[in-house]
Amino acid sequence: MDILYRSTRNDSVTATASEAILKGLAEDGGLFVPDRIPLLDKSLKELAGMSYKEVAYEIMKLYFTDFTEEELKHCIHNAYDTKFDTSEIAPVIGEKSPYFLELFHGSTIAFKDMALSILPYLMITSARKNKAENEIVILTATSGDTGKAALAGFAEVEGTKIVVFYPKNGVSPIQEKQMLTQKGANTHVVGIHGNFDDAQTGVKNIFNDKEFEQLMNQNGYQFSSANSINIGRLIPQVVYYVYAYAQLLSREEITHGEKINFVVPTGNFGNILAGYYAKEMGLPIHKLICASNDNKVLFDFFKTGTYDRNREFVLTTSPSMDILISSNLERLIYKTAGNSASINAQLMNQLSKEGIYEISHDMKQELTDFYGNYASEQETAESILNLYKSNGYIMDTHTAVAYSVYSKYVEETKDQSKAVIVSTASPYKFTRSVMDAIDPGYDSLSDFALVDELEKISGVKIPQAIEEIRSAKILHDTICDKSEMKDAVKAFLKLQ
Ligand SMILES: *Cc1c(COP(=O)(O)O)cnc(C)c1O
Repeated sequence: MDILYRSTRNDSVTATASEAILKGLAEDGGLFVPDRIPLLDKSLKELAGMSYKEVAYEIMKLYFTDFTEEELKHCIHNAYDTKFDTSEIAPVIGEKSPYFLELFHGSTIAFKDMALSILPYLMITSARKNKAENEIVILTATSGDTGKAALAGFAEVEGTKIVVFYPKNGVSPIQEKQMLTQKGANTHVVGIHGNFDDAQTGVKNIFNDKEFEQLMNQNGYQFSSANSINIGRLIPQVVYYVYAYAQLLSREEITHGEKINFVVPTGNFGNILAGYYAKEMGLPIHKLICASNDNKVLFDFFKTGTYDRNREFVLTTSPSMDILISSNLERLIYKTAGNSASINAQLMNQLSKEGIYEISHDMKQELTDFYGNYASEQETAESILNLYKSNGYIMDTHTAVAYSVYSKYVEETKDQSKAVIVSTASPYKFTRSVMDAIDPGYDSLSDFALVDELEKISGVKIPQAIEEIRSAKILHDTICDKSEMKDAVKAFLKLQ
């Protein structure tokens, strides 16, 4: 049966999968959610024998029900190819728990590649299916990794343009250089004076501006989103949870049906929400462990049932998780409210007006699949050093937050279930923070000298993504105030 997508803020708004992918966000500001979560229709044993692409097809066909088999397979085959530096695409590393699910083997060495390498294909296919005549303009706010992965995905894709906004002082030097060296006449990168939440709010405001939409339309353009609010990002992320389980099963690290935990370094709540969808589809998951850094809004939420963004925004060494408004949490709130758009809309309205909301006791009871905790900067650095000393494996800072939270979880609960640490970035992407954690003596070295040093001590070859930017030219230099984002879009598209 076909799956329809509903807005989390208005029951009467529905869309097919391709319409939802094309729109990104519902017109009422809500997020699209599937009207039910489909169950896996292949056994775990069958899945254990499949390649990444095959698992991807088995999952996505259940959600993108208005795509033909041929369309979907075309998207999958173009996305998960040699852009990834391993044929496993998302390998599970290690011989005992906790295992590491490495999601950083794509072209920008962070987990955003898992979904953003397929999104452009899904979007172009959706545009064709819906006979969209306008050129699609992807508007994206990034805390560092989405930006580069989206730029890489959409660069030179015919019928699209992409504008990326990032916090000028809120990303790592390597993240910034990756974005500013992006080639492609259809790409535009803008640094804003403000933090990630400012960038995200600015983008949402542009999306919701009806007058601007009309102006775009007159000029032959329409917006869409590459942020994780797009279901074209969310659903492809369900795949690697299933694939990770399948790998462990086929290697006989776990028994058939054994429940395992996933530990997810969390910012916008997209990655972990995909894990929740996988669990709802029938994947044997015990707990989804939500790991935060010092911006621990989610830890407080899981503990108290109150979401409160009224606090200081902290810049940490895991910048892709420096977020106070976790957009995708809205999809979970909607679900825990019994799929009630009106309850959800009321809470989200409160969030935007007062920066705070509290869920009911009954809703809180629905959150038992999750456990939340956080790691301080010091704990994060210590876990990088300790794991390196004990077995030589070097984690990036985001993965280290998860690892550190996992230790707290085990200590607190004594849960013996096997666990997978969802590893979201290569240590080469956050070289300075990683090397600092290992030895503060490295501090005097330049960014690229540190890269060479990391190769020496880890024995892991420098990824292509890093080699590329060593000598690449800076091609973007636009900076604006957070209040001028609309003007930046107008100027790039030459709207009149
Ligand atoms: C985006 C990102 C995260 C956070 O993922 P969400 O889906 O936003 O929760 C964690 N780690 C890295 C390296 C990221 O790029």
